[in-house]
Amino acid sequence: MSTILKANNLTKIFSLGGLLSRTKITAVDHVSFTVESSEIFTLAGESGCGKSTTARMILGFEIPTSGELHYLDQNIQSVKDKKAWFKEVQAVFQNPFESFNPLRKVESYFFETVNNFHLEKNEKRAEQLIEEKLQAVGLTYHEIAGKYPGELSGGQLQRSSIARSLLTNPSLLIADEPVSMVDASLRMSIVNLFREMRDSFGVSVIYITHDLATAYYISDRIAIMFRGNIVETGSVEEVLGNPKHPYTKLLIESIPQPDPHQQPKTLIKFLEEKEEYLRKGCKFSGRCPEVMDICKKITPKDVLIDGVMVKCHLFKTNTGKSEE
Ligand code: SF4
Repeated sequence: MSTILKANNLTKIFSLGGLLSRTKITAVDHVSFTVESSEIFTLAGESGCGKSTTARMILGFEIPTSGELHYLDQNIQSVKDKKAWFKEVQAVFQNPFESFNPLRKVESYFFETVNNFHLEKNEKRAEQLIEEKLQAVGLTYHEIAGKYPGELSGGQLQRSSIARSLLTNPSLLIADEPVSMVDASLRMSIVNLFREMRDSFGVSVIYITHDLATAYYISDRIAIMFRGNIVETGSVEEVLGNPKHPYTKLLIESIPQPDPHQQPKTLIKFLEEKEEYLRKGCKFSGRCPEVMDICKKITPKDVLIDGVMVKCHLFKTNTGKSEE
C-alpha cells in the first residue's frame, strides 16, 4: 500500500454571522490523516463534526484556512490543472435526486462527463464505456436510456451517480453520506459497491457517514470526529470493536438496537453546537462521563495506544509520553 492522500494540520475557520463577525468557529481543527491506495477510510461523527467540510476541502469547494492537503506528492492547493485533478478524484453525494436535474435525462450526465474529459472519440464508444460502468454497479444502459431522474428509484439513481463517478477511472472516490437518503433495504447493496470498487478497480474511498454500522461493514480504517477534531483513529475493528475515547463509546452505545423494545443505552443530546466548538480544553468535556479537571483547561494531545491514535487525557502512550 502507498499513501495517496495526506492531510496535515488541516484547519477551516468560519465566521459566524458574516465575514466581519468576531465569533469564529473552527469547523476543522488541525486534522491530520492519510488515505492509502485501495483502502476505504471513513470519517465518522455526528452532524457538525467537520467531516463534510473536510471532504469539501479535498474537493476544492472550500479553501483551508491553514494546513496542507497532498495528493501523492502534490499540494492540492497548487494544482493548476483542475480537470486532471477531477479526473483522479470524484465525488458521490448524499441525495441522488439533488445530483440530477429533474428536467434532464440521466444519460446526458454520462455523455457530458465523457465529453468534458475527452474519454472517448465517438458516441458509440462512449456508450460502450457508459454501459461498462453501469454494469459495474448492477445497472445497464438500457435501464437508464431516455429516462428522467424521477423515473428511476433512489437506489437506481445513486447507482447511476456512482457509475458516472467511475467514468474517469478515478483513484479516489469521496462518498459523502451516500446511502442516508436511500431506502434502508437497499443501503447495504449500495455500500457493498464501494467495496467492489476497491477490490475490482483498486479505488480508494473516503466514506463520510454518521452511520457506524455501515462504516464497520466496509471500512479498513476509521477516524471519529467531534467538533472539528479527530478524537480516535485506527483500524475499524480496533476503534469500533474496542473503543477507547469516551465519545467513540458514546456513539457506539447510541446505535439503535435491532429490538424495538430495547432503547439505546444513551441518547446523544445535542447541546448548543457553538458552545462546544468554542469550549476550552477538551471540546467533549461538557458531556463526557469521565471528565476530569484537566479536561476543562488543557486540550488533550494525540496519544498512540496499540496502533490507535486517541485524543484524550485518560491516555498516555505505551512509553508513557504524549505525541506532539
Ligand atoms: Fe473526557 Fe477528558 Fe478524555 Fe475529553 S479529555 S474525552 S473530557 S476524559
